[in-house]
Amino acid sequence: MINEAMHQLGNEPSVIRELFAYGLARKAEIGAENVFDFSIGNPSVPAPAAVKEAILELMEEDPVALHGYSPAAGDPQVKQVIADYIREQYGVPATPSHLYLTAGAAAGLAITISALTHPGDEVIVVSPYFPEYKTWIDAAGCQIVEVPAQVPSFQPDIDAIAAAITEKTAAIIVNSPNNPVGAVYTRENLEALAAMLTEKEAEVGHPLYLISDEPYREITYGAEVPYVPCIYPRTIVCYSYSKALSLPGERIGYIYVSDLMPDGDDVAVAVAGAGRALGYVCAPVLLQKTIAKVIGTPSDVAAYAENRRLLTEGLDELGYEYVQPDGAFYLWVKALEEDARAFSDRAKEHELLLVPSDSFGCPGWVRISYCVSADTIKNAMPAFKALMESYK
Ligand code: PLP
Repeated sequence: MINEAMHQLGNEPSVIRELFAYGLARKAEIGAENVFDFSIGNPSVPAPAAVKEAILELMEEDPVALHGYSPAAGDPQVKQVIADYIREQYGVPATPSHLYLTAGAAAGLAITISALTHPGDEVIVVSPYFPEYKTWIDAAGCQIVEVPAQVPSFQPDIDAIAAAITEKTAAIIVNSPNNPVGAVYTRENLEALAAMLTEKEAEVGHPLYLISDEPYREITYGAEVPYVPCIYPRTIVCYSYSKALSLPGERIGYIYVSDLMPDGDDVAVAVAGAGRALGYVCAPVLLQKTIAKVIGTPSDVAAYAENRRLLTEGLDELGYEYVQPDGAFYLWVKALEEDARAFSDRAKEHELLLVPSDSFGCPGWVRISYCVSADTIKNAMPAFKALMESYK
């Protein structure tokens, strides 16, 4: 007998993927230039030249060793390079034994949630949130607890998180720079979160772990992105090179269990166990070795900064309301009617693909992914205008 829950999940594509698939079909029908696809977070900037150079260099190495297995947690030399980078960049005494290489942040989050929880536990997320969090929390047999962010700053609401913590709370997930809102959590806010969690740990009598999901760390427009392990010792970072180096299809990232965490050695061992149990061992080795060669290569965010300017100026002129993003490549725009799905459907009539906010755990908004060509944004403006006019 197949597992009913898995069957249902397989039958339910995410809203983002559904819209993306619709866009592909629609482009084949009416021409790609006539569809304004703002659905998916696929970087539009090419990977840095250093990535290609590193892969070509690696191709000269012994193919048996190059394409062979690494240890489950990753190649020891690669882990050393990443640990050195974390130490130099953020001043945390990172050690390779606290790193676990993964196929992107997706695998990292699924492993981390599994490592930190027991069935029946609760995991707190700040809404709106990346929809797959719910999938991974459900898969671990846990309960998702959604705590709305403060409006209009979209910073975590510390008092509301405190009120949501119970004896069953195992972990809290934060994501900054944020998908879907583009908010970057301030040092002040993270410090308040850390102080509250420290107090609450004493009250509930067990550790409260902070999972920091950071695929957009380097994609900012000037805001400081504090390193969460320096603020709250019981932090596990789920990092990914998908967005920063434009490598989403290559599936490479890591979990870093803070060396400042009192029970960090045990958590790192539990992460390795969860990776093994879920079958996420030995992340793609060619990419592990590529990362060791290119680590520290700056992300090219100039195109996203320009897109952000074009999009916000265009929408300002038309009178749309949105949250000014400080990072990532998403714009969170107020829907022109209460039902975001209906608004997204109406936008489709103008060939605009905007993701409705309901699956992010927040009604009444849409997400625009502006990791597209500048021309897509410029050419979409008449459609945004017609959409606005259709509500007048
Ligand atoms: N977390 C967030 C907030 C994301 O936006 C994404 C991808 O879009 C992921 C995790 C998964 O990223 P990856 O490609 O590294 O698996």
